[in-house]
Amino acid sequence: MHYQPKSDLLNHRIILVTGASDGIGREAALTYARYGAQVILLGRNAEKLQRVDDEIRALGKATPLVRILDLAAATPESCHQFASELAQQVPRLDGVLHNAGLLGEIVPLADLSPEVWQQVMRVNVDAIFFLTQALLPLLLNSDAGSLVFTSSSVGRVGRFGWGAYAVSKFATEGMMQVLAEEYKNRNLRVNCINPGGTRTKMRASAFPEEDAGKLKTPAEIMPIYLYLMGDDSRRKTGISFDAQPGRKPGPAE
Ligand code: NDP
Repeated sequence: MHYQPKSDLLNHRIILVTGASDGIGREAALTYARYGAQVILLGRNAEKLQRVDDEIRALGKATPLVRILDLAAATPESCHQFASELAQQVPRLDGVLHNAGLLGEIVPLADLSPEVWQQVMRVNVDAIFFLTQALLPLLLNSDAGSLVFTSSSVGRVGRFGWGAYAVSKFATEGMMQVLAEEYKNRNLRVNCINPGGTRTKMRASAFPEEDAGKLKTPAEIMPIYLYLMGDDSRRKTGISFDAQPGRKPGPAE
């Protein structure tokens, strides 16, 4: 995507990023901060989040907030508690990037352990739903809120062995579509991003044989992440975007 955002695109925006400690989420948090947003870094690992917090503070932009929430253990109650504590500190959320995700195991469904199935569904579907429900009032306080989910190519077309992860990403696409319809006449847009093969820890565990040098880095796929949080996408809702349009799913060639 060729998108040239203005350097102040996200000034005065407050954006929460889940899974901000690593990979694409870390890069998105840094990028949003560089473009002026105050970011809320959500993750399960305090030490890693602290490092991202330090990097953002070093930019000299809006001071981030760090919040710990293990999505594997999230309940409707813990998400509501989290949201009500957050509401004491910020008046609204202009954006939420649901980025955190769990791959689980790449094995045929017949061999997938029910425990792994449940772990993946808990993090990739249940927690995202609980958190979204809890954060909706803060999002609706924004004059132009943007809710962004993270999908995958296997969330559109199933693939051998991608079991629970693929099913969870189909669910993510569904959640996005339902919410987009429900809020289409309100000040909230809802979309998905499919990052496409990107050089991260998750990608390396899915394709250990792959030459990671052939993959885009998280920094290279940021244009669509910026576009969806800024004013230029104000009228877009219910769409599943590709961060790397035209890229063939599967290992890098
Ligand atoms: P990484 O594994 O590099 O990062 C995942 C992030 O999610 C980390 O910050 C991780 O925290 C966090 N996370 C995982 N489990 C939990 C949990 N239980 N509670 C809170 N945070 C958690 O993955 P990517 O950056 O590659 O992936 C980001 C998103 O993009 C995911 O939704 C993934 O499915 C999707 N995606 C990625 C692709 C790729 O090629 N990389 C392709 C298609 C989709 P911690 O640092 O503590 O591990």
